[in-house]
Amino acid sequence: MCELCLYSFSCTTDCLSFSAKAPTYLPMDKTLHIIGAGLAGSEAAWQAANMGVRVVLHEMRPVKGTPAHNTDNCAELVCSNSFRSDDHEHNAVGLLHQEMRELNSLIMSEGGKAAVPAGGALAVDRDVFAQGVTQALADHPLITIERGEIDGLPPAEWQHVIIATGPLTSEPLAQAIQSLTGSDSLSFFDAIAPIVHTESINMDVAWYQSRYDKAGPAGSGKDYINCPMDKEQYEAFIHELINAEYGLFKEWELPSGTPTLGEQEQDTPYFEGCMPVEIMASRGVETLRYGPMKPVGLVDPRTGEEPYAVVQLRQDNALGTLYNMVGFQTKMKWGEQTRVFKTIPGLEDAAFARLGGLHRNTFINSPALLNDRLQLKADPRLRFAGQITGCEGYVESASMGLLAGRMAASEILGKSIETPPQITAMGALLGHITGGAEAKSFQPMNINFGLFPPLTKDEATTEYINKKGKAKRVKLKGNDRKKAYTSRAANALSAWISTFPKTA
Ligand SMILES: Cc1cc2nc3c(=O)[nH]c(=O)nc-3n(C[C@H](O)[C@H](O)[C@H](O)COP(=O)(O)OP(=O)(O)OC[C@H]3O[C@@H](n4cnc5c(N)ncnc54)[C@H](O)[C@@H]3O)c2cc1C
Repeated sequence: MCELCLYSFSCTTDCLSFSAKAPTYLPMDKTLHIIGAGLAGSEAAWQAANMGVRVVLHEMRPVKGTPAHNTDNCAELVCSNSFRSDDHEHNAVGLLHQEMRELNSLIMSEGGKAAVPAGGALAVDRDVFAQGVTQALADHPLITIERGEIDGLPPAEWQHVIIATGPLTSEPLAQAIQSLTGSDSLSFFDAIAPIVHTESINMDVAWYQSRYDKAGPAGSGKDYINCPMDKEQYEAFIHELINAEYGLFKEWELPSGTPTLGEQEQDTPYFEGCMPVEIMASRGVETLRYGPMKPVGLVDPRTGEEPYAVVQLRQDNALGTLYNMVGFQTKMKWGEQTRVFKTIPGLEDAAFARLGGLHRNTFINSPALLNDRLQLKADPRLRFAGQITGCEGYVESASMGLLAGRMAASEILGKSIETPPQITAMGALLGHITGGAEAKSFQPMNINFGLFPPLTKDEATTEYINKKGKAKRVKLKGNDRKKAYTSRAANALSAWISTFPKTA
């Protein structure tokens, strides 16, 4: 065992030589173990180490690969090279960038150094970016990168652990997590139905009603938004659905032994209740009318009659600002989804918080399993961060790593920090995945303004003087409305940061 760090029999970190630089020496039970050096794990390690906590970052590559990573770099971007919009005044992901920068994010600082021209987006040279992150972590005196798979639950002597193994978590660890948390708690596929901003639904056409007005345990009998169709509209919709353009599964997403991509539809392991809507539609024109689009128990208040078919939307977050299209998980291409779903009466002007999809993605049912500090309720020494928590995207994953790293380090140092206010981007995302989202229908989510608590009447309006010289208030729209969300968030973030203990 290393005399200084007490870490292991094979300490490779040359502790005695860097101990002079290390601001704090902490024994083994104060070490933070982070599993997975992706976007979330790298950020978590950086944050915790900068607070003076010793970190061991366990990464299985290159000892064991994933189907999507190509290098052994930390924070490798597996697909697009974009962190999306960098507009922190009018865009929710741009706001998240800004909040992370204010919290000394490694992902954002290396992203900035590796930026390539991309209009209003932040896109990066993926190799420069990942090498920059890897080098910064390797150079940090309190971070050790250990290469090798963690193939089961972390050993009991690891008192502080962050699991950040991402959408492609290796199978032995995924199975161990599943056996700890329960068989329904881990998903291996995203089967996502589109999610719509409630305020964009035309309620002159749609109406609130539960089937047969059933209230259910947490309901009122008016829990769904219903979009009605007559026979002609229904048949035209089915035609569009069947003839739209679809994306294909990648070969590695299919179960082992599936011979060709062409055979994927027969062999894809669709879960019960997760059958793509187009597969159902292709089985016969009436199939959806007896499935997700069945109209029984619903009466259109405008006609006083049961419509021919219905698209139902179910509340997706506690705030009621988002509704998901029930049973509409799809592999339709994104542009096609917008075109086809806007033909649904009531959704003509729908703004989509996220579009549907179906691909391999390992994630836990965070709203049921995690507390608001990203700790597993059943075993609080384990925290989760990144895409495995059910957030979606590079920046979102890194932001949850940032919070997990800071929270774990604070706990180790005996200095607690508050969770970020829900009106900040980080607070809104954290609130959504750890309780705001419906556990039953939980699916991964990007940051968007629908996750934020709605603006108050004062925040959502501005005063103007009319021709008669009287002060009136008018509703903010478009960019002005977005700015109201981001300004409110910026103030709340500064106030939150000012509450940090000195070392946090
Ligand atoms: C094919 C694909 C394409 C994607 N495209 C995009 C995109 O274009 N844009 C976007 O924003 N997001 C995309 N995503 C989502 C993307 O993966 C996440 O946004 C982001 O990488 C998640 O960060 P993370 O840190 O949670 O996981 P990762 O970045 O995947 O990091 C997890 C790390 O854990 C390691 N690991 C796994 N199991 C173990 C184990 N048992 N022991 C030790 N180490 C382990 C892995 O090797 C990996 O390095 C894509 C995902 C996939 C699968």
